[in-house]
Amino acid sequence: MPEGGVPFAEIFPYEGDIRIKELDAPVLPEPPRDGEGGRPCHGCQDDGAPVLWSDEHWKVRGFAEPEGVPAQVMLLPREHGDLADLPPARAAELGGMLQRVERAVMALGGIGRVHVNRWGDGGSHFHVWFIARPAGMLQLRGTCLPLWGDVLPKVPLEEWEETNRRIALALAGEGGTAHVGPAS
Ligand SMILES: [Zn+2]
Repeated sequence: MPEGGVPFAEIFPYEGDIRIKELDAPVLPEPPRDGEGGRPCHGCQDDGAPVLWSDEHWKVRGFAEPEGVPAQVMLLPREHGDLADLPPARAAELGGMLQRVERAVMALGGIGRVHVNRWGDGGSHFHVWFIARPAGMLQLRGTCLPLWGDVLPKVPLEEWEETNRRIALALAGEGGTAHVGPAS
């Protein structure tokens, strides 16, 4: 890592004069996230987010609008709750589900790595991000991939929808139901 840290590393998407923001004072108690304190839960509602695949307990969502990365999906339990709230049976399934989703994304081909991220600062319904890094694109390695995803050219819509369809079918190959139309 170069002197000064990530902003000076090849993986950082910006260059030039950048100032670090001043830190705000802590806000305590923290404001409620989606699904808390009477706020609607986007994890429960699937509003505007296509559910690509589901089974009795889990669902995998895609994103209707293309991103700058070759694929991006999200794994959620169907029942509301955060990671710590997963019943023991769901918690025991989680490892296998992470592997399944990664396999489905890797099966697209041309993917160097699938980054698996859990943040949860916006929504209280447990959700895990799977963000695909294109093979060979070494600048996109590591923690800055989501930043690159904001500034790279978006994948064409038709290609993005076909990617979502292929991920859904790959997941359904191991059980559950793909919620996709026929091949275009
Ligand atoms: Zn929820």
